[in-house]
Amino acid sequence: MPPTIPQQLFEEITQREHALTSSDIKTLGWQKALSASQQRQDHMARLITSSASAGVACQAGCWYCCYFKVEVRSEEALQIVKFVRENFSPERAKRLQDDVAENAGALRGLPREQQLTANRKCAFLDDGKCSIYAVRPARCRTFHAKDVSGCKQAWDEPTNLKIPSTLVPELLYTGEAHLKGYRQAFTDAGYDNGVYEMNAALEKALHTY
Ligand code: SF4
Repeated sequence: MPPTIPQQLFEEITQREHALTSSDIKTLGWQKALSASQQRQDHMARLITSSASAGVACQAGCWYCCYFKVEVRSEEALQIVKFVRENFSPERAKRLQDDVAENAGALRGLPREQQLTANRKCAFLDDGKCSIYAVRPARCRTFHAKDVSGCKQAWDEPTNLKIPSTLVPELLYTGEAHLKGYRQAFTDAGYDNGVYEMNAALEKALHTY
């Protein structure tokens, strides 16, 4: 646990999110429960970002972190597929399917460290922007940098794993606490608790649903 967020606060965020998501799954179903959890995470991030000390450098059109490896749970992959079906043209959906398959093929079978340093452009990155922003995975929601230099250096030197992080610790670790609570609620409700490389999960989900 990093010193930037007290253990007690981490636990409080996790427990609150676990309780809220568990209740929502029972009363609203998994899709609305997932959307509500994402909205709470974004709301919490906005509150932290609005404080003077957070100092977030992220802005639309900056895309360095969209070359990092992303992992998703099954419900996130299904939510993204639904969004693609409802919002992408057939041509765009076909291009996406091809890009996802290409990324999945390039990453499949690689050791974890090589997946982390592969520097593959996310299939959802369009003109420097996330084309599925409303349903982007929880992992993407936790990445906010104080200074773009660290993100750029990681993109320039993908195999250098010693670049000092410029991520905003308050956002990273409150996001982690939130993620832990939401994921535990889904696991407790009997949903698949696996975490998958996003392209591999999407390749399968786009073919199946
Ligand atoms: S899903 Fe969106 S935010 Fe996440 S890596 Fe891809 S383009 Fe970036």
